[in-house]
Amino acid sequence: ATTPHAAIGATLRAVFGFESLRPGQVGVVKRVLRGESTLAVMPTGAGKSLCYQLPAVLDGRRTLVISPLIALMDDQCAALVSRGIPAVVLHSGLPASALQQAEEAVRSGRAGMVFTSPERAAEPGFAAFVAEAGRIGLMVVDEAHCLNRWGASFRPAYLELGPLRRALGQPPVLALTATASADAAADICGQLGIPADGVQRWGVYRPNLHFRVEPMDTAAAKRDRALALVAGTEGTGIVYTSTVREAEAIHGLLVGAGQAAGLYHGRLAARERTSAQEAFMAGALRVMVATPAFGLGIDKPDIRFVLHLQLPPGLDAYYQEAGRAGRDGQDATCTLLYLRADRGVQQFFMAGRYPERDAVEAVDGALRRLDAAGGAASVAAVAAEAQLPQARVHAILGMLRLERLASRRRDGTWRAGRQAMDGRALDR
Ligand code: ADP
Ligand code: MG
Repeated sequence: ATTPHAAIGATLRAVFGFESLRPGQVGVVKRVLRGESTLAVMPTGAGKSLCYQLPAVLDGRRTLVISPLIALMDDQCAALVSRGIPAVVLHSGLPASALQQAEEAVRSGRAGMVFTSPERAAEPGFAAFVAEAGRIGLMVVDEAHCLNRWGASFRPAYLELGPLRRALGQPPVLALTATASADAAADICGQLGIPADGVQRWGVYRPNLHFRVEPMDTAAAKRDRALALVAGTEGTGIVYTSTVREAEAIHGLLVGAGQAAGLYHGRLAARERTSAQEAFMAGALRVMVATPAFGLGIDKPDIRFVLHLQLPPGLDAYYQEAGRAGRDGQDATCTLLYLRADRGVQQFFMAGRYPERDAVEAVDGALRRLDAAGGAASVAAVAAEAQLPQARVHAILGMLRLERLASRRRDGTWRAGRQAMDGRALDR
């Protein structure tokens, strides 16, 4: 069935209050309406959410959205509900009674749009549970770069989404991300069963972002410059650092200089992180000082500057972080303060993230032999087989972020672990 152009325009205006689709959205929406599986690579702020929300509203198909962040899910769901669209969220952050209500809405089929985390979606029985009220008409994987096994933001639970799609009877899938190299796109498409010609790329260039790199001679000069830039720039902004220590230091200096600055990093309690994020989103904090833990999916349209105080780990990460500026289309500046010595920080992280090739190969070989012998593989068994200390094996599995995955499998197989160890992981 084809949806008439007029119906698209009318729904767009009446339900979402938008005048027209943006150029990048047109092709994706058309594919989704035709039931064609798609990977859409569009910059942050381009309006990827509408690419599944509009089709869902147009033909009422039940839509399952996998989203990596609770705050993000909650925001999107609340916005939909306020537009009269029956959406629910299912995640561990809900009070028991709210979760029960949401589950009931899914079971009865009242919830046309279901948001959940990859971890929950990966639980056994999840496919059967959502399919109880009928077929899922569209499966959406938001922030799909988390699927890329060689990427910095890989999340093991995302590996379960390909199997989930099959368990749901292969509904059309829409994967969404702001960044995917050709390799990453191939990995995402392969896992989800999206055909190679289903990749839609649009508009990486963002003319309202003004990029600048300033070379610095000393760490002290860099902090001084950061203070001056924050004081001299109007509007809200994010100051990114690579380390918690640097985040705390610059945060202290900014607050000392009278700036309304918040702090966000992975070592803070979840409660503190949430309250900092909420204050920033609400405009109570002008500046957020943060490590890369902050920002996945942040939809604050009026961020006027993103300042990198330390070198990010790579171009993909830089583009994601800097790309949070200027989502409203107004001018914004993205400044990187470059100190040569900061490269060492990233080199240190990379050395910790990627173990030496020999050790990885020993562990991989041990897993294969144990698997071939049909035995259950424990860390102890792998260590004995690989002739490495247990702690080392533990660390290698952990570094490859396979630990959770491996321990989740009760039947003793390491299939997913082996798969992730194949190929390029060995070359890093
Ligand atoms: P992304 O997920 O691509 O980063 P979002 O889906 O969060 O982007 O949308 C970014 C912003 O653009 C939101 O504020 C949204 O309301 C707005 N937007 C999306 N599509 C349109 C459109 N066709 N016309 C006007 N605004 C739009
Ligand atoms: Mg988004």
